Amino acid sequence: MSAITNHMPTAELQALDAAHHMHPFTTNKELAEKGARIITRAQGVTLTDSEGNQILDAMAGLWCVNIGYGRPELAEVASRQMRELPFYNTFFQTTHVPAIALSSKLAELAPGDLNHVFFAGSGSEANDTNIRMVRTYWALKGKPSKSIIISRKNAYHGSSVGSGSLGGMTYMHEQGGLPIPDVHHINQPHWWAEGGEMSPEDFGLARAQELEQAILDLGEDRVAAFIAEPIQGAGGVIIPPATYWPEIQRICDKYEILLIADEVICGFGRTGNWFGSITVGIRPDIMTIAKGLSSGYQPIGGSIVSDEVAAVMDSAEFNHGYTYSGHPVAAAVALENLRIIEEENVIGHVRDVAGPYMKKKWEALADHPLVGEARIVGLMGSIALTPHKDSRAKFASEAGTVGFICRERCFANNLVMRHVGDRMIISPPLVISTEEIDTLVERATKALDECYAELKKRDLLKAAS
Ligand SMILES: *Cc1c(COP(=O)(O)O)cnc(C)c1O
Repeated sequence: MSAITNHMPTAELQALDAAHHMHPFTTNKELAEKGARIITRAQGVTLTDSEGNQILDAMAGLWCVNIGYGRPELAEVASRQMRELPFYNTFFQTTHVPAIALSSKLAELAPGDLNHVFFAGSGSEANDTNIRMVRTYWALKGKPSKSIIISRKNAYHGSSVGSGSLGGMTYMHEQGGLPIPDVHHINQPHWWAEGGEMSPEDFGLARAQELEQAILDLGEDRVAAFIAEPIQGAGGVIIPPATYWPEIQRICDKYEILLIADEVICGFGRTGNWFGSITVGIRPDIMTIAKGLSSGYQPIGGSIVSDEVAAVMDSAEFNHGYTYSGHPVAAAVALENLRIIEEENVIGHVRDVAGPYMKKKWEALADHPLVGEARIVGLMGSIALTPHKDSRAKFASEAGTVGFICRERCFANNLVMRHVGDRMIISPPLVISTEEIDTLVERATKALDECYAELKKRDLLKAAS
């Protein structure tokens, strides 16, 4: 077979892709008929596709390219590390400098006494580690019955059997025999969709108190941990009411339940602080990290754990690990990514410049006839599409129909904005400039206008009864 390169015609590349490549979270048969979009290169916040379109990537790849595309420093570090030591494991009483340096740096950056890192290759793997870790922790403390992990409906914690079970996406549970035993899901703090007549504050409190009720129902002696994203990402960028997290923290403290903050999206500047836990004011015992840890330049994830959890875990062998735990190239690249975030004050840019600028423009989208709410924290935001703002009505069409139309209009206007059901979400590279934010919002507005026109034409503006 001749070499397959960027220079081949799009249709030929699409045909080969359809013939051999099975895409994640995709109906491959449908995609094969349509042909996949082929991204050939990227710089800053801009993707280039095989047709030469320049697309503003308001999703930072998949929530991960925090420092933007095309930073040569990371390529140089990877190349240097590959020459020096491309791989060695960390299993058999050995270690290497990139793993030492990255774990030390993460201990410095993470809040409180989160000082110990167990590495993985991804967020899913890290959450699988967490499942085994919290159960082992309680077993080592003489309480092996504490094995239930409480999570939330519509949470996203990964796609492996363990992490997919922690997640609360029912359409994932339907395939492959999920969830595993001893995972319990409570309701999410999604006021817009589920708050009814309650005020956001009362609703936030009520949803947090479901954790306490679950602990009482299941038995305190059965519950090991509660896991949640500080702000739900893949579920639709759901920003909880301000009352929610303080109450969750109180309940975890009261019943001595380990709190796992899944920081895979919120970590590394996304919310305007190093971690989402700082933004929402919680003290987790374990944090899951991945995505922005390396800005997606290398696959790497991990669990950062507290002194207390580490002390218990360190007393026995943990029969767990991945070939690529602490992979030297991935670790070196992650370290360089953290250096850039720190030295270029990327988090200050989110907190003081891009975040506030975006917030003003983003929240103004709520004036659009199709938009019910438009909210954002740092640089993760969402808008709820609705046929009727005041009643927060859903569309009569199947959930996601309108969101999909809107996403197509975004693509047509060279903007990547994702839809989750009938919510539109953004999570752009953190280095986005104010001019690029102007472009993002202009294109989003045009896409909303076109979507609105199409809904009118196709008689899809009806509310569900
Ligand atoms: C993406 C994501 C994961 C899974 O990470 P992968 O690297 O895809 O395995 C876990 N938790 C959250 C909150 C995520 O957004």
